[in-house]
Amino acid sequence: MTAAVASPPFSLGEFHRFASAGREFLYLAPSGGIFELNELAARILQLLGDTHLTRDEMIQRLGTEFAPADVDEALDELHGTHAIQHPEGFQDPVEPPPANFPLQSLVLNLTNQCNLSCQYCYEFGADKIATPDGKPKFMNSETAQAAVDYFFRDSAGRRALHITFFGGETLMNFPLLRQVVDYARGKASEEGRYIDFSLTTNATLLNAEIITFLAENHVGVTVSMDGPKELNDAMRVFANGRGSYDIIAPKVKELLARHTTRPIAARVTLTSQVSDVVKIFRHLTEEIGFQEVGFAPVTTSSNGLYSIGPSGLDGVLEAFRQLAWEYRDWAIEGRHHPFSNVSDTISELHHGVSKSHPCGAGLGLVGVGPSGDIAPCHRFVDSDQHALGHVSTGLDRARQADFLARGHIHAKYDCHACWARPVCAGGCHHEAFVRYGDTGHPNLHYCDWIRGWTDLCLRIYGEIAVRNPGFLETFDRRKTLQ
Ligand code: SF4
Ligand code: SF4
Repeated sequence: MTAAVASPPFSLGEFHRFASAGREFLYLAPSGGIFELNELAARILQLLGDTHLTRDEMIQRLGTEFAPADVDEALDELHGTHAIQHPEGFQDPVEPPPANFPLQSLVLNLTNQCNLSCQYCYEFGADKIATPDGKPKFMNSETAQAAVDYFFRDSAGRRALHITFFGGETLMNFPLLRQVVDYARGKASEEGRYIDFSLTTNATLLNAEIITFLAENHVGVTVSMDGPKELNDAMRVFANGRGSYDIIAPKVKELLARHTTRPIAARVTLTSQVSDVVKIFRHLTEEIGFQEVGFAPVTTSSNGLYSIGPSGLDGVLEAFRQLAWEYRDWAIEGRHHPFSNVSDTISELHHGVSKSHPCGAGLGLVGVGPSGDIAPCHRFVDSDQHALGHVSTGLDRARQADFLARGHIHAKYDCHACWARPVCAGGCHHEAFVRYGDTGHPNLHYCDWIRGWTDLCLRIYGEIAVRNPGFLETFDRRKTLQ
């Protein structure tokens, strides 16, 4: 006589549970899927919260409340989404990137020079990692052309390409920007591909000619600006200490009035001195007229002078909360709210991202400096330690593989049990290097912040999904070029 083989017990899988619009949801790790719970599924999870139960035991326990066939089906569904598991668990679906992953985005640092001396700038401040000595200060047209040629070669197979111009102050090399747009556009049309462009600028050098060019060529513009005069001028100053607000405010208004072919965004750097998020947001949207405003805390080492610190970050999260709920209200009315931090996170949640790496740096995106050196992204440009090759010879595949292996979520032990890893994947490589001296180190100083922010965006996503699901189609159309 043979004994019947008992079915293996179920236990809880890995997820973050949240409530939104009166309903219950699971955010599943590591898949990044979002699953709505019905009453039966919620009861199953409740029972498994205390113990491990087999299928038969579960059917028995729930027998007075639900039909056995319904319990059976719900168990299959929950197991299918990985919300519950058998003892052997699941294979982690986050795969390493394929070798020779084609590029999609190129960031060209047209110059490493800047006409401002912002106190917190990562290119010049105490935490700078660039080693520009002996290298050109401005990119020349030969290097730019070689960079574009290299980009087109290493993006083979992609139909849509993106070039971002960066600095230093990008517009200090506007003639080259113009040439690159013409050259890359011609090349794209020869090859039957689509290319678009964007730039980041401090706005001090904007003039009528530049604005006309940007508008006619549909160049996306992000302006670095920190809010009203007293806040902007706390950090964003010329070398003589004079604030930049009075110079840039009228230029930005002109840009906004005349460049209407792409949304114009502001990017705000938060520091210990500049952290009044709501005031800054209201000024930039209502008084200046930006269509999008995004915030990022300054990147510094932990003892950095302007570091925002844990209590400052709590205050920032509180202010983000206020704006995020406002975003939800607008979305339910079908209106686009300018707080881009929410749009960015919701877009990732909507697409169910489960990242192997925190961003595209060194993978689908590279930065190229004035010397033609290739870096993982614009923030590593001109750093010998982080160079991944040169536009004349292409990527050094061994260096690239090392960078990507260290940045992969599998290499970040501290992140392995974190439910936020599908969207975070350990955080910015550059910030990790500045903080911990290793691009592959998880940004553990931000974990509470990241989890708090992701939970908030999940709840907002859930409310929009329930109350105005059509709004989420905006994210299907949205291009996410990193
Ligand atoms: S850095 Fe922190 S929040 Fe991000 S995945 Fe790792 S443990 Fe989670
Ligand atoms: S997140 Fe960090 S490493 Fe990634 S592209 Fe941005 S600055 Fe570079």
